[in-house]
Amino acid sequence: MKIRTRRFEGRCARHKRFNPAVDGRGAIRGGCVRCNLLADIWETSLKLNALIRKCDPTHDDLQRPREPEPAHDPRQLSLID
Ligand SMILES: [Zn+2]
Repeated sequence: MKIRTRRFEGRCARHKRFNPAVDGRGAIRGGCVRCNLLADIWETSLKLNALIRKCDPTHDDLQRPREPEPAHDPRQLSLID
């Protein structure tokens, strides 16, 4: 799997200075859809990082046998692209 090598350059055309990692959702103006989407992407990336850490083979807290990789889901890819 190749996931985390991508640098995401997305930003809102109307609020070019909005950075969800720095500003948080509180800085979104007027419920801007695109800023909310950027915040969604940021929060999802944090969850993804947490999941990847959890899957780290140096952690032995996973007692279950490895689950097969999930089927290809184009919606998830569209979040990153
Ligand atoms: Zn915006």
